[in-house]
Amino acid sequence: MLKAERYRHFVEYFSKNQPEAETELHYSNSYELLVAVILSAQCTDKRINQVTPALFKRFPDAQALAAADADEIFPYIRSVSYPNNKAKHLAGMGKMLIGYFNGEVPSDINELQKLPGVGRKTANVIASVVFDAPAIAVDTHVFRVANRIGLTIRATTPLAVEKQLVEHLPQNTLAIAHHWLILHGRYICVARTPKCEICPLTWFCKYYAQHNTETALLKAEAAKIRKVKEAKKRKSLNAISKELAKRSVDKDI
Ligand code: SF4
Repeated sequence: MLKAERYRHFVEYFSKNQPEAETELHYSNSYELLVAVILSAQCTDKRINQVTPALFKRFPDAQALAAADADEIFPYIRSVSYPNNKAKHLAGMGKMLIGYFNGEVPSDINELQKLPGVGRKTANVIASVVFDAPAIAVDTHVFRVANRIGLTIRATTPLAVEKQLVEHLPQNTLAIAHHWLILHGRYICVARTPKCEICPLTWFCKYYAQHNTETALLKAEAAKIRKVKEAKKRKSLNAISKELAKRSVDKDI
């Protein structure tokens, strides 16, 4: 199947079956989303949603965050992964938002990446979710699922995956495609053993085609070996019974 066809099937399937898809992080403005996305690195959205209500209450905006140091932030995020680093990032991010960006979350991907704790992935999430920019963030789910389906070919880095997705996906689907891939990766195309048996994308998924062809070939090979063994067994049983019959005839004579 051609790559272009895979993209078409992918967009058609999800547009029809999941026309609404969004982040599972809870937030009510760009500042809160930025904080939540920084915290979500190497951590689950569920865990982040448990800590952000108290965090946002104590630090409701960039001003409040800028006035805090990492030690004051730490107790609110101690249960997320890498709390020490993230507390430092949040304290630095608040100060930079106030000092350089007038307290506003910038919309430009390069400007966003100047903020502590903000890499390309986080910048793309903010740019696409908040500012509708034609960008797609590549996290571990997007990376894996895009490769498995065959939307990307020989893409070994998140940036390479991002470039191929941006090149082939219709621009108006970039933001939502990010969520389609994440949710599919989180619940069906999981890392260790993808749940292909319940996946609706098998008919155009490259991984499924390859994997099942291999399995089918292995099964066919095993069946062939089984047949040969059974034939051999039958042959030797026949020979034994013939020999026994012959002996009993000799005895009678
Ligand atoms: S068929 Fe399997 S490998 Fe392909 S997308 Fe679905 S779950 Fe993932």
